Amino acid sequence: MSQPDLLIDISHLPYDRIELLPDGGVRIGALVRNSDLAADRTIRTRYPLLAQALLAGASGQLRNLATTGGNLLQRTRCVYFQDITRPCNKRVPGSGCSAREGYHRELAILGTSESCIATHPSDMAVALAALDAHVRVLGPQGERVIPLLDFYRLPGEEPQRDTVLQHGELITAVDLPPLPFATRSHYRKVRDRASYAFALVSVAAALDVTDGVVRDVRIALGGVAPRPWRATKAEAVLRGAPATEEVFGRAAEAELSEAQPLPGNAFKVPLARNTLVGRHLEIRDGGDTLEEKF
Ligand SMILES: Cc1cc2nc3c(=O)[nH]c(=O)nc-3n(C[C@H](O)[C@H](O)[C@H](O)COP(=O)(O)OP(=O)(O)OC[C@H]3O[C@@H](n4cnc5c(N)ncnc54)[C@H](O)[C@@H]3O)c2cc1C
Ligand code: SF4
Repeated sequence: MSQPDLLIDISHLPYDRIELLPDGGVRIGALVRNSDLAADRTIRTRYPLLAQALLAGASGQLRNLATTGGNLLQRTRCVYFQDITRPCNKRVPGSGCSAREGYHRELAILGTSESCIATHPSDMAVALAALDAHVRVLGPQGERVIPLLDFYRLPGEEPQRDTVLQHGELITAVDLPPLPFATRSHYRKVRDRASYAFALVSVAAALDVTDGVVRDVRIALGGVAPRPWRATKAEAVLRGAPATEEVFGRAAEAELSEAQPLPGNAFKVPLARNTLVGRHLEIRDGGDTLEEKF
């Protein structure tokens, strides 16, 4: 259990800027507020899925305070992680997992272990996973740059460790590489309420379609795994294939073929499939409708 005896205020450190990088990418300081990032013109035009993911998270007041670094490091909303009267391997290693036999409707269907089936709650991190972002970290041993996809751990037998961050390390920034076709990208979040609710399933996708063929694609899923889930199997099916509903369906099925749902969250398998297919059809057609199709 995390029981710090020292709290450090980092809010005055100089990490509150959004900067253009020489290679055409963007550096986001760890203290940039979620609201400021979502409103930034470069982000809105070059990486719209990131602005949309931020605006789909939490509430206006929370986003005004939430920082880039803090949002990445928020912890699971599994009800037992917050309930100190019940066993939870993530909170107290070795104590057991109450969710497997208990309430797990919101929890993961991919990347789980016997020890833990929690989901990571951040919307922003799902968009960053699709964009191949890198996390810049500063610690006693100097600076490290970690691909976001390697920054988060799967639970395995150590679900208490969400990330590879070491004791004493501070996130200073997140770098976005240039991705020209990310101008055609979207984030769709399916949740129980229209706002102020975590994702049951979300899809962050960028799609490059020329002459009806998928030239390139980036997909990440949220709400389905202990970390933002990069959908590499779906991407492999889509690259070079016709951008048809049938192919998008096959891509989704490839990604979800290893899903291990439990009775309470089995609905997430068809929900993830339909969300992924619907989102891609919308991007292909250039639309950005919020109409729900399921
Ligand atoms: C009611 C409610 C609904 C919410 N809904 C959503 C939602 O739908 N989607 C979503 O994505 N989020 C949601 N959130 C989460 C919210 O976005 C996070 O609480 C917020 O992003 C955390 O940011 P923060 O800067 O306040 O982090 P803090 O809470 O201050 O920090 C979180 C952790 O990160 C550590 N930390 C912070 N910055 C750094 C750094 N630079 N380097 C190293 N460690 C650091 C802190 O020590 C702490 O352990 C919700 C929160 C609430 C309360
Ligand atoms: S799913 Fe993970 S966080 Fe939830 S009770 Fe089990 S061990 Fe704890």
